[in-house]
Amino acid sequence: MNALVKLNEDDQDVVVQAGINWMDLNQKIKASGLWFPVDPAPGASIGGMVSMSCSGTNAYRYGTMKEWVLGLTVVLADGRVVKTRRRARKSSAGFDLTRLMIGAEGTLGVVTEAVLRLAPQPRNLVVGLVRFERVGQAVDVVLRVMRSGYKLEALELADGEQMRALNESELSEMRFEEKPTLFVKFAGPSKWVVQEQIEMVKELCRANGATKFEVTDEEDRMGTIWAARKSMAPALIKMKKRETDLFLHSDCAVPISKLPKLIEGTRELIERAAAKAGNGWFCANVGHVGDGNMHSSIICPAEDGAKAEAVLKEVARLALSLDGTITGEHGVGLELRDVLVEEVGEVGMDVMRRIKKSLDPRGILNPGKVLRLEDEGTQAKL
Ligand SMILES: Cc1cc2nc3c(=O)[nH]c(=O)nc-3n(C[C@H](O)[C@H](O)[C@H](O)COP(=O)(O)OP(=O)(O)OC[C@H]3O[C@@H](n4cnc5c(N)ncnc54)[C@H](O)[C@@H]3O)c2cc1C
Repeated sequence: MNALVKLNEDDQDVVVQAGINWMDLNQKIKASGLWFPVDPAPGASIGGMVSMSCSGTNAYRYGTMKEWVLGLTVVLADGRVVKTRRRARKSSAGFDLTRLMIGAEGTLGVVTEAVLRLAPQPRNLVVGLVRFERVGQAVDVVLRVMRSGYKLEALELADGEQMRALNESELSEMRFEEKPTLFVKFAGPSKWVVQEQIEMVKELCRANGATKFEVTDEEDRMGTIWAARKSMAPALIKMKKRETDLFLHSDCAVPISKLPKLIEGTRELIERAAAKAGNGWFCANVGHVGDGNMHSSIICPAEDGAKAEAVLKEVARLALSLDGTITGEHGVGLELRDVLVEEVGEVGMDVMRRIKKSLDPRGILNPGKVLRLEDEGTQAKL
C-alpha cells in the first residue's frame, strides 16, 4: 500500500497509495523537478496526513493538505469504494467529498489512494536564522513581512525556552543562544528576487532589534539549520526529568493579526498555572508563525496532568476568543472532542454527527475519535 502509482509530470500531479511516506515520495520524484510540499513528522504517510489535514513548516507558503489533494479513493464502512474526484484541477460536480474526508481522522472511511498536486521545487533556496531579545520583536517582523507583499518560503518562531530544549537535547549539531529565534526560508525564480527578499527582511529585523541575522545558501549549513527546526518536538520530549513525566501541548491557530495576543495570553496563562503547581514545569513555545499556528508545550510530572490539561483548554478558549481554532493541524482526536462544540457550535456538531451516522451507522471506524456518537444533545463543555 505504499506504491507511487503514476507520476503525471506535465499535469504536476501524482497518484499514490495511502501508505507511502511523504519523504519517500519526494525522493522518488526528485528528478522530475517537482515536489510535494506538505511536511509534518518525518514518519508520516499520505493516508495519515490526509486524515489529519496536517501541514508543517511549508504551510505558510504552500497551504495544508486541503490545498494539495485533488481526489481520493476511500473504502467506506459498508465496504463500498468511492472515488471522490478524477485529476482535473477544478470541479463543481456535487458535494466536495474529497474535503469531507480530509481531516475526518479516519472516522468516515479508509483512504487507499490519493491524487496529489505537486509544485516545482523551490529555486535559489536560502535559509536564515534571526535572533531577538523578545518574542514580541520577532512577531512584529512576521506581521510586517506578511504585509510587505513578499511571500517567503517559511517563517517559523521558537522562544528562548524552546532553544534551551534544543541545546540540552543535543539533537542539533549547532549550539544556540537561548533567545527567541526566527527560522526563515527564502526562494524565488532568480537570485536577484531572493536577494531583494533577504534585504527587506534584514531591514525589518534590524529595525525591530534583531541581535543576529544569518543567511546561508550553503547546502550543509541550510540542512543543519532546518534540521534544528525539525528537532524541536523530540527536543521537548528529552526535557522530561522522569520516564513518567507528561508532554502536553496546544495547537491553536489565529488570524495573523491576533498572533501577539495569542502568544502573550498563552504565556500568562501557562506561567500562572506553572507557578501554582510549583512542581518545576518546563514550558516552551514554537510555532508556524507564518500561518498563525503556535504550539505551547508543558512538560510536567504525571500528577500535574489534570492541571496542565486544564490550562491548555484555557489556551484553546483564548484562541477561540481571538477568532481562531483549537487545532490548526493536529486534529481533534480524543483530547479535544469535548471542546469542539465551542468552535463549531451545537448545529455544527449535529451536522457532523449526522454525517458520521449516515456513513458509519455502526460506529466501527475509529470509534470515539472527533465526536461521541452517543451524545445527541449538548457535548460536555470545558
Ligand atoms: C515529531 C513530530 C512532528 C510533527 N510535526 C507536525 C507538523 O509540523 N505539522 C502537522 O500537521 N503535524 C505534525 N505532526 C503530527 C503528524 O505527523 C501528522 O498528524 C501526520 O499527518 C500523521 O501521519 P501518520 O501517517 O503518522 O498518521 P497516524 O498517526 O498513523 O494516523 C493518524 C490518524 O489517521 C488515521 N489514518 C491513518 N491512515 C489512514 C488511512 N489510510 N485512511 C484513514 N485514516 C487513516 C489513523 O487511524 C489515525 O486516527 C508531528 C508529529 C510528530 C511526532
